[in-house]
Amino acid sequence: MHPPYDPQNIFAKILRGEMPCMKVYEDDAALAFMDIMPRSEGHTLVIPKTPARGLLDMPAAALGPYMQSVQKVAAAVGKAMRAEGLTIQQFNETAGGQVVFHLHFHIQPRWEGVALKPPGIMGDKAALEDRAALIRSAF
Ligand code: 5GP
Repeated sequence: MHPPYDPQNIFAKILRGEMPCMKVYEDDAALAFMDIMPRSEGHTLVIPKTPARGLLDMPAAALGPYMQSVQKVAAAVGKAMRAEGLTIQQFNETAGGQVVFHLHFHIQPRWEGVALKPPGIMGDKAALEDRAALIRSAF
C-alpha cells in the first residue's frame, strides 16, 4: 500500500493554476506542459485532470480518455520536434522512480545516436518556451 493522493503535490497546483507551467495542450481529460528538467529536446509531460497518484489508482473510466490525450500529445511532440522516435515513460512510487505523485506520462523525442540527458538538470527557460511554441503549433 502507499499513501493517499496528496492534493498539494506540484502537478495538482499546476492543474489548479496555483503554479505556472509552459502549457502546450489541454482538453477535458488532460493537461500537457514542458518538463522543466528536460531529458531530451521537447520533453513534455501529460497529466490527467482526474486526481490519481499512479497508473494503478486511475479510475478505469478516466484512463481511456486520458490515454487518448497522451497519444495525441505524443504525435504533436514528435511532429513538432521532427523526432525519429519517442520514449514514453511512466513511473510508479519512489521505488519505481516516481518523484511527483500525480500520474503523468513523459513524452521524450529521440534521435539516432542522441542519448537522454541525465535527470535533474534545469532547462533554459527561453529554449523551453521555444519548444513549447513549436509543439503548440503542431496540433
Ligand atoms: P517522475 O515523478 O516521473 O520521476 O518525474 C517528475 C518530472 O517532473 C521530472 O521529469 C521533473 O523534471 C518534472 N518536474 C518536477 N517539478 C516540476 C515543475 O514544477 N514543473 C514542471 N513543468 N516539471 C516539473
